[in-house]
Amino acid sequence: MNWAVFLDRDGVINEEVTYLSDPGSLRLIPGAAVAISMLNRQAIPVIVVTNQAGVARGYYPESQVAILHQGLADRLAVEDARIDRFYYCPHHPTEGLPPYRILCECRKPNPGMLLQAARDFDLDLSRCTLIGDKASDLVAGWRAGCQTILVETGYGKQEWLRWSEEFQPQHIACDVLEAVEWIVSRGV
Ligand SMILES: [Mg+2]
Ligand SMILES: [Zn+2]
Repeated sequence: MNWAVFLDRDGVINEEVTYLSDPGSLRLIPGAAVAISMLNRQAIPVIVVTNQAGVARGYYPESQVAILHQGLADRLAVEDARIDRFYYCPHHPTEGLPPYRILCECRKPNPGMLLQAARDFDLDLSRCTLIGDKASDLVAGWRAGCQTILVETGYGKQEWLRWSEEFQPQHIACDVLEAVEWIVSRGV
């Protein structure tokens, strides 16, 4: 079985923008492309898991998520970095209209996207690490049996102030590059 690194998208790879959908508003977090290409060079799958409730809320169509992800892939490719797969949850339990208004297994903190990736990539989740900036990311990783790293970019700093008593990630990193360096140095 294989292992992989799961990355939340907004606040980890790109700067947090509320309900980001326009590739023109995409700004990479410094070091993110270097971090991803470091994993690429070691043949470690890089898997994005992102909640996109803006779809359920009707802020943008699902097709726009694909356009944004292509835009992100293009930006990363310039710096020789590649995301192996994007998983996203377009749902919300109480907002918007069916079929998107649904209590789903994929919306973090549920672990559905990680479990799906484990089937698709034949992953041993106990050897995988999730890097996120929100408690909901870390709880999804924890529920899937992964290691977790909180980054201080995006919502990370305020999340840590709020939740530090409730959960303990394996590591806290200032950003995704430091998080990946930590993973690689441990050779997990
Ligand atoms: Mg985030
Ligand atoms: Zn979902």
